[in-house]
Amino acid sequence: MASDVQMGGAAAEAETFAFQAEINQLLSLIINTFYSNKEIFLRELISNSSDALDKIRFESLTDKSKLDAQPELFIRIVPDKANKALSIVDSGVGMTKADLVNNLGTIARSGTKEFMEALQAGADVSMIGQFGVGFYSAYLVAEKVVVTTKHNDDEQYVWESQAGGSFTVTLDTSGERLGRGTKMTLYLKDDQLEYLEERRLKDLVKKHSEFISYPIYLWTEKTTEKEISDDEDEDDAAADKKEGDIEEVDDDKKDGKKKKKVKEVSHEWAQINKQKPIWLRKPEEISKEEYASFYKSITNDWEDHLAVKHFSVEGQLEFKAVLFVPRRAPFDLFDTRKKMNNIKLYVRRVFIMDNCEDLIPEWLGFVKGVVDSDDLPLNISRETLQQNKILKVIRKNLVKKCIELFFEIAESSKDDYAKFYEAFSKNLKLGVHEDSQNRAKLADLLRYHSTKSGDDLTSLKDYVTRMKDGQKDIYYITGESKKAVENSPFLERLKKRGYEVLFMVDAIDEYAVGQLKEYDGKKLVSATKEGLKLDEETEEEKKRKEEKKAAFEGLCKTIKDILGDKIEKVVVSDRIVDSPCCLVTGEYGWTANMERIMKAQALRDSSMGAYMSSKKTMEINPENGIMEELRKRAEADPNDKSVKDLVMLLFETALLTSGFSLEEPNTFAARIHRMLKLGLNIDDLGAEEEDADMPAPEEDGAEESKMEEVD
Ligand code: ADP
Ligand code: MG
Repeated sequence: MASDVQMGGAAAEAETFAFQAEINQLLSLIINTFYSNKEIFLRELISNSSDALDKIRFESLTDKSKLDAQPELFIRIVPDKANKALSIVDSGVGMTKADLVNNLGTIARSGTKEFMEALQAGADVSMIGQFGVGFYSAYLVAEKVVVTTKHNDDEQYVWESQAGGSFTVTLDTSGERLGRGTKMTLYLKDDQLEYLEERRLKDLVKKHSEFISYPIYLWTEKTTEKEISDDEDEDDAAADKKEGDIEEVDDDKKDGKKKKKVKEVSHEWAQINKQKPIWLRKPEEISKEEYASFYKSITNDWEDHLAVKHFSVEGQLEFKAVLFVPRRAPFDLFDTRKKMNNIKLYVRRVFIMDNCEDLIPEWLGFVKGVVDSDDLPLNISRETLQQNKILKVIRKNLVKKCIELFFEIAESSKDDYAKFYEAFSKNLKLGVHEDSQNRAKLADLLRYHSTKSGDDLTSLKDYVTRMKDGQKDIYYITGESKKAVENSPFLERLKKRGYEVLFMVDAIDEYAVGQLKEYDGKKLVSATKEGLKLDEETEEEKKRKEEKKAAFEGLCKTIKDILGDKIEKVVVSDRIVDSPCCLVTGEYGWTANMERIMKAQALRDSSMGAYMSSKKTMEINPENGIMEELRKRAEADPNDKSVKDLVMLLFETALLTSGFSLEEPNTFAARIHRMLKLGLNIDDLGAEEEDADMPAPEEDGAEESKMEEVD
């Protein structure tokens, strides 16, 4: 732990810390992989400074004295060519010693691993900020980074590292005092010295950090040529000594009097960002590029936004807002550990807080932007926000404007909407589930594949235009994937009638449709639930059906006896045309899909699963050859063993085709194998010798029926 930087008696001891393993990996990746887009490091560091300034400004709203140590709020960039070092200095909140150790090296962020995976999958390094590890981008250009920082509650400390597994933290005993804030000094690699050039730095700030709401100053060098007479020389040089060096250029003795031309180098702070908040300007005067650059500055996104809405609300309450829809979902969109919220709240131009939960509902957590209220008090806290009436009105307006924005995307470009929908359909569905007021409107934004949509998606509105004469309801089927549902036996009769069926294959569809219930006055009806009534039949059809029902009554009873508790009841079906049977769930119970979703969630406890799982009704198809044969056999001999076997097999197959999962796949497989052997005329004696360690199929079947008899 001892350090080798002891200098004289005053130097403090450096403590060495190891980087947390994943951070260490990340650092080697950053250092050893070639990325062309290194310039983004500056944006990341400036964005950290801006965050730190936001924090101290917010603290100072309730306690002015917090600014005492350094009243001015700024970011300064200082290139130092002599030492090949670039410093970014801010008068933000600073870091305590514990902050330094935790935030810059020992506590991994949830995004560290995700970011490395993204990088290895070919993502651009400029995504780093989104994963919450932007600081480490300094190592794209620096071989050594030194962070000097002073927090109001602690002494001034220096963090230093050349990566390579460890960093040191030392109490700063040098003469340089920050007052409050942080200075990041990057000792640049020899091939990265371009970042000491004024022009380059100015351009970078303009490109990436233009809308930072604190002044960004660059320490600039100015050279002027001046003619002076020799006798002035001495005084002048002395006067300028503080800031500039005077270099003698040449002597001029033309007009007798001795004159001199000198180059004068002086330094000054030049502000290089504009600061007027974009939301105060008129929308028609703001270019698309300006919005994009503002968007990137508040989000760390590396891509432009997909859509923007800039508006002001006036009347009993006034606020201005700029809302953005990103092009992609963030990697942790539905990470439940973290409440997503990306609206920055300002009160009369002063930044108040990020992630204000009460400003926008969770389902709109992906919308990014700023809100600037004229009415909220400056000293508002998170706690008082919750009850605030003004905030409630703002929130309502934001939801309304977001929905308008989504409709604008839908109307403006099919491609953009497809992109939007792919990224955020889950959010819309969550909205349908949660927001009863806007539910009907949101339903118009939903899109699904269907039995008639082909590769495209269809809206409910378009579905309605295609409804057949006499079709009253909108049909849908839920399931795991399009593939899993498109050939489902449940769709047979509906398809035969030419009725379109929507494929709802998102886990959340199940919840959303449960709330939506109807669209445009038409009921949404699940194809997999009990009581699917298709339109009126003719007298003849009815009679025929009654006869079939009567004829199969006996078989229904036999099947119920064989399957016992596995099913609720057995009935003759109305919905299947080709398949022998299917399993439907009660109108108000879980569908197969819901059962799958719930099993996938924390409900690993199997007893819980059994208790909650859906009651299934088996529907059999009287027109199907298998059912007809079964009926004959069962009538001839109610104890026919093959009937039992076949019923079990049909049940298990129906579980699969109806979207349920098999409890015991091995028993099912054994049954299939036995059928295969039968089909192939393999005699069982031989089989028993070969598969000595496999359960003998006959035995297994016997055991199964024994069990059932015991039950
Ligand atoms: P993020 O900014 O997403 O939190 P970073 O890797 O960029 O992730 O920064 C890590 C943390 O280090 C910040 O959350 C902050 O606590 C601290 N930090 C970085 N730069 C500064 C700074 N200039 N002033 C104060 N704290 C800082
Ligand atoms: Mg950051």
